[in-house]
Amino acid sequence: MSDTTSQPEQTDGAKPIVPGATLGVFGGGQLGRMFVQAAQRLGYRVHVFSSHRDSPAGQVADFEHIGSLNDLRSVASFALSVEASTLEFENVPTEAIKVAEEHSPVRPGSHVLHTTQHRLREKNFLANAGVPVGPYAEVKSLEDLHKAVKTIGLPAVLKTAQMGYDGKGQAVLREESKLEEAWQKLGPGDCILEAFVPFVREVSMLVARGIDGNSVLYGPIANEHKNHILDVSLLPAPVLHPNAVAEAGRIATDVADALDAVGLICIELFECAEGELLVNEIAPRPHNSGHLTIEACQTSQFEQQVRAICGLPLGPTEPIASAAMANLLGDHLLKDPNSETESNCPHWFESLEHGVALHLYGKESVRLGRKMGHLTALADSVDSAREKVLAARDALV
Ligand code: AMP
Repeated sequence: MSDTTSQPEQTDGAKPIVPGATLGVFGGGQLGRMFVQAAQRLGYRVHVFSSHRDSPAGQVADFEHIGSLNDLRSVASFALSVEASTLEFENVPTEAIKVAEEHSPVRPGSHVLHTTQHRLREKNFLANAGVPVGPYAEVKSLEDLHKAVKTIGLPAVLKTAQMGYDGKGQAVLREESKLEEAWQKLGPGDCILEAFVPFVREVSMLVARGIDGNSVLYGPIANEHKNHILDVSLLPAPVLHPNAVAEAGRIATDVADALDAVGLICIELFECAEGELLVNEIAPRPHNSGHLTIEACQTSQFEQQVRAICGLPLGPTEPIASAAMANLLGDHLLKDPNSETESNCPHWFESLEHGVALHLYGKESVRLGRKMGHLTALADSVDSAREKVLAARDALV
């Protein structure tokens, strides 16, 4: 691992950044790790900006830059060491990305982050762009919450505008009498109240959009959650309403165009009973539901992110088989799911006998609810792929 001290030429956006160049990624988690692996396969060197040493992405990077995103000099020196960079989580301070952009392009840029890291701003943006979303209201006080419930009704979901993920920072409201309790938990600060959507299925679309504005799509991918955390993803999503596939593609393209995003974006949607699709949220980065594209598609979501930010032609996205991905949380690797101290080794051999692909993220401590890795199975149908991946996961303990 070595640092780069020479300053790259600024890229004007039209000139492709070709293999051999050095790319950067803000964030050291598993999404960064898989970005690094895809970029290196294409012959790039990758620097990772991480808050701590030996991060999942840092372990496989050419250089791990340790720093705080609040230290703008550290951010600037990182941006000077790469020809372009991307991000692997959306809560990177916009200020940091603006500073980085003074030295080398960040894709997607600070304008995309500004919109997508604040739920209320994001919903307003989607509604203004004519993208279908469920009813919602801004909530800044307990009084606002009471007013919002009068218009939106119950049940409803109260969410903090910032920093929520995997169901954290949100509460389902079912009774008027519980509003104050929920506000005590999530307020003060900006919140959003959303009507509870009685969806039949949660799906995601991935869209890779290049510097030239062209884009390619993956999905719809069907997503099953457990305890608000993604559990299983399936491609292609089974039994969608006949119009939903084309509609999901149109929505995803509209969102990426309206954001003027360059990179890989995930759009999470609810499919309702009559096939109506409503956007839940946008992630301006590769997504857990897209991990199965590594095996199921000729070009993975991570390679597509590399191609998009470098101005290279986007690759084919058509699945080569049906696929199912199952997350491996700490819970799946511990013999006793109620204890984090159980240290027996998972049965990797027995699991891999099922013919699945294993991805582990290099996280040292196994914790309940922590994403440690995932498994992907390919098959002739999503049902068989799902069966296979779950059997492989069950075989672990
Ligand atoms: P989020 O953090 O917004 O992705 O929400 C996490 C999960 O909570 C989603 O995947 C849904 O299962 C559920 N959820 C979020 N918002 C709503 C809503 N407005 N109506 C029904 N379920 C929701």
